[in-house]
Amino acid sequence: MTSPDSDTEDTEPTFADLQIHPAVLQAVADVGYESPSAIQAATIPPMLAGSDVVGLAQTGTGKTAAFAIPILSKLDTSSRATQALVLAPTRELALQVAEAFGRYGAHLPDVNVLAIYGGSSYGPQLAGLKRGAQVVVGTPGRVIDHLEKGRLDLSHLDYLVLDEADEMLQMGFAEDVERILADTPEYKQ
Ligand code: AMP
Repeated sequence: MTSPDSDTEDTEPTFADLQIHPAVLQAVADVGYESPSAIQAATIPPMLAGSDVVGLAQTGTGKTAAFAIPILSKLDTSSRATQALVLAPTRELALQVAEAFGRYGAHLPDVNVLAIYGGSSYGPQLAGLKRGAQVVVGTPGRVIDHLEKGRLDLSHLDYLVLDEADEMLQMGFAEDVERILADTPEYKQ
């Protein structure tokens, strides 16, 4: 057992130490997270500072929040342009990540999060794209589909996330990811 005044108090940050947006901080408190997980403590500060980040962590260690919290903290909610794109290998993961963005962004005004994935009807996805979504989470194939039909504009993208990048490579999505990257600005994080 460590003493109450042990080093951990100095070395382990709280969410409040991480300079995340107050509305996101409130949402994180609402969902009951007491302190950042290791991957969150390691990635949130450099992401907020504008660095490109590669995060390696096992499933279940809080990696979704590790990228969603800093992205939501920096989002320009006065614009409806798509500012963040998360690519995920499966529809299930895309839905899960979109839901997480919704939860962590619940107290931000006017945030639209849209999941786009194959094997489902176009109707709701098209309506969502028309309305404008600052955060789009999608599987590569359906993202390309919308890009090629001119329904998804990535020309203002600030943040691109490759979720489970290893899995996407193994599933043969490398070319699709390259295709999507070609439609995004150089300056993106
Ligand atoms: P993930 O690795 O993103 O799939 O997250 C795994 C689970 O951990 C999810 O159910 C999250 O809600 C939860 N979680 C994420 N961050 C934290 C945290 N800082 N404290 C407690 N639970 C968390």
